Amino acid sequence: MNNNRRGMMLIFCAPSGTGKSTITHEIITQDPNVKFSLSATTRKPRDGEEHGVHYHFMDDKEYDETLGNGGFLEHASVFKHKYGTLKAPVMKSLDEGHDVIFDIDWQGARQLKETAPNDCVLIYILPPSLKELKRRLVSRNKDNLETIEHRMNEAKSEVSHYGEFDYIVKNDNLQDIMGQINSIIICERLKKHRNLKAVALAESILQE
Ligand code: 5GP
Repeated sequence: MNNNRRGMMLIFCAPSGTGKSTITHEIITQDPNVKFSLSATTRKPRDGEEHGVHYHFMDDKEYDETLGNGGFLEHASVFKHKYGTLKAPVMKSLDEGHDVIFDIDWQGARQLKETAPNDCVLIYILPPSLKELKRRLVSRNKDNLETIEHRMNEAKSEVSHYGEFDYIVKNDNLQDIMGQINSIIICERLKKHRNLKAVALAESILQE
């Protein structure tokens, strides 16, 4: 095991367009000990998305078989498509002492917290305002107007789940939010049930 500790699950949720992907990518780039949980989905790849890089793209049959075999740690329908976290790679990473990042919705976050309360750290990312969220959705040029309207309608019901999360952070700009998220990660790694090295030190001091 790396670092003498079990890894933790860093679960990030946010309304679509809040900057979640940029943030999770930044964490992984700066810290090789953190791995990304590559989800499975039945939605079709968008332009530029690759199988095994952005998602495990599955057809309904493969998805249902994986679900039936207990292959998902959590699963949910989001925007009419099915998504799921593959159990085996996540458990392997955690056992090896890596932290694992999840970019999932609130339904998945809730399931992971129920399944593994001691391993989970739940972080909710807010946009600075609904107006700014719409501006970002329009300027990223990824979705048509109908989808943007749909995502805006969903944003409020998404945010209504913030109370189930351990932390809430606002994404004004990348530098500020990364400072806050890195502080969360440092604190969570120092928690007694994860910081086994320090616990062993304390015990050895008591033996002297
Ligand atoms: P998109 O299709 O735009 O990549 O993702 C749509 C939504 O599905 C996002 O909120 C994303 O976080 C969520 N999502 C992606 N993968 C998973 C997953 O494995 N489980 C759950 N519950 N939600 C997911």
